[in-house]
Amino acid sequence: MTRAILDCYTDEPAGLGVPPFIGVWPRYVAGLYQDEPTYLTIDDIRLVRYVESVPKVTIDPPAGRTHIEVLNHTREYDEIKRVLANTDEVVIVVGVQTPGKYLSARPGTLREVNKLLGVAGFQPAIRGRDALDTKAAPPARSPFRKVLTGPVLTGGTQFRGGTRPQLPEAGDFDELHPLVFDTYEQLQPPALKGAALIGQMPRLANRIVEIETGRGCPREKGCSFCTEPIKQTVLWRRPELVIEEVKTLMGFGARAFRLGKQSCIYSYEGGDPQKLETLLSGLAALKPTILHIDNANPMMIDEQRTKLFVKYLTPGSTAAMGIESFDPEVTKANNLNCPYDMAFETIRLVNRLGGFRGENGCHALLPGINILLGLAAETLETLDKNFAALKRILDEGLLIRRINIRRVVPFPGTPLYEQVGQKYLRRNQRLYTPWIEKIRQEIDIPMLQRLFPIGTVLKDLCSEVHNGGTTFMRQIGSYPILVAVWERLPLNEFFNVRVTGYRHRSLLAERI
Ligand code: SF4
Repeated sequence: MTRAILDCYTDEPAGLGVPPFIGVWPRYVAGLYQDEPTYLTIDDIRLVRYVESVPKVTIDPPAGRTHIEVLNHTREYDEIKRVLANTDEVVIVVGVQTPGKYLSARPGTLREVNKLLGVAGFQPAIRGRDALDTKAAPPARSPFRKVLTGPVLTGGTQFRGGTRPQLPEAGDFDELHPLVFDTYEQLQPPALKGAALIGQMPRLANRIVEIETGRGCPREKGCSFCTEPIKQTVLWRRPELVIEEVKTLMGFGARAFRLGKQSCIYSYEGGDPQKLETLLSGLAALKPTILHIDNANPMMIDEQRTKLFVKYLTPGSTAAMGIESFDPEVTKANNLNCPYDMAFETIRLVNRLGGFRGENGCHALLPGINILLGLAAETLETLDKNFAALKRILDEGLLIRRINIRRVVPFPGTPLYEQVGQKYLRRNQRLYTPWIEKIRQEIDIPMLQRLFPIGTVLKDLCSEVHNGGTTFMRQIGSYPILVAVWERLPLNEFFNVRVTGYRHRSLLAERI
């Protein structure tokens, strides 16, 4: 049987697979089969439609924006058609459960997959106004089996915050195939075998590979909105297994890694500092160009483990803390894990140990803050309390790498979905946009001025997309700052820049 994997990209509370990140899902799925499947992305399927609908399509037009919805295609039109025409089964990886804004990719939705897979290569071309409107495409039967897998099978998927999740419908797929395993020893053979799949991925030198160190949530009762506790009980992956996978991936050309597929990296192996050091020192010994982390439960952040991260990670990493709200009522109603005072203590601690600048121009390790809007018990005062806390961080002279503000999606199976659904989201919706704007102006910009003063030199930024004469670039890493250069530079190359100004959540810079 010939098989293809269709990567629609994944974004979960624990684990990211939206380019430039390479997620675990397509790799593990590929490792399940004896023959290596062909790797396709949702961009490939869109490209087929694009080419058939818009003659002389330009992915990166000189006077407009780069078309990120097809930027991560793996093959040219003819070859994609050939792959689809000769494939018996397409395994589709779908699941965005912590939707964000993506600079250089657009995840695929369930509806889009269904429409496009029916069309790609097997239906008459759709022309004119309807060409890029997925709703206008007629449903059609595919000549191959369609197997759905990924986070979508636990709770659904939603690409836009604040809206209802999409759930797979019976009849749209030939099979729903959850990827389950009981131990990491069981997972290791497919993880190692599937590593070869990255050889088929475009621009490997500019990608960062997500690595799994554990799954499930170590808290007895999870946060109201989170899908991690409903996916699997807590398991940690032994250091040797993680190191073995990274070594294998490096053998196929990967150089940048993030320990991001776990609910909390500080909780690794129950928070055992010796095991954490075994893991980090073993990975650092392989000399990856980037070694970063994601997801840190403030309750687990302490001096000893923070020192280990500062010692072994490459500079520019972020300990992203799911504080979610600084309003004690919301913290209580949603069983959040970070009381107000603890948030400040941990932010101060990470600043004290990781707040020095590394050789790439970024600080060694800084905290990041996640704020969620639309949680249970949220009131107008919640927004005031969140703003006041962020202002206090700023006034104390502390550094925060980024403030991530999302509108919650109540996924089925979570306590939030069962208890209040979208009630608070609907009620307070109109307040969000001006409030977010206030944060961006009054907190973010002064914070960026402190983090990256005018004249700061940042190294090794990859040019990712254009907007007319402007090139947008970022370093490869966990939460790299977005930088705009007023020059049209070739994409997918590396540059050093000097900071010249500030914009919304981004820097202006000149090439040096
Ligand atoms: S601590 Fe909360 S957000 Fe983190 S994995 Fe557990 S339930 Fe999810």
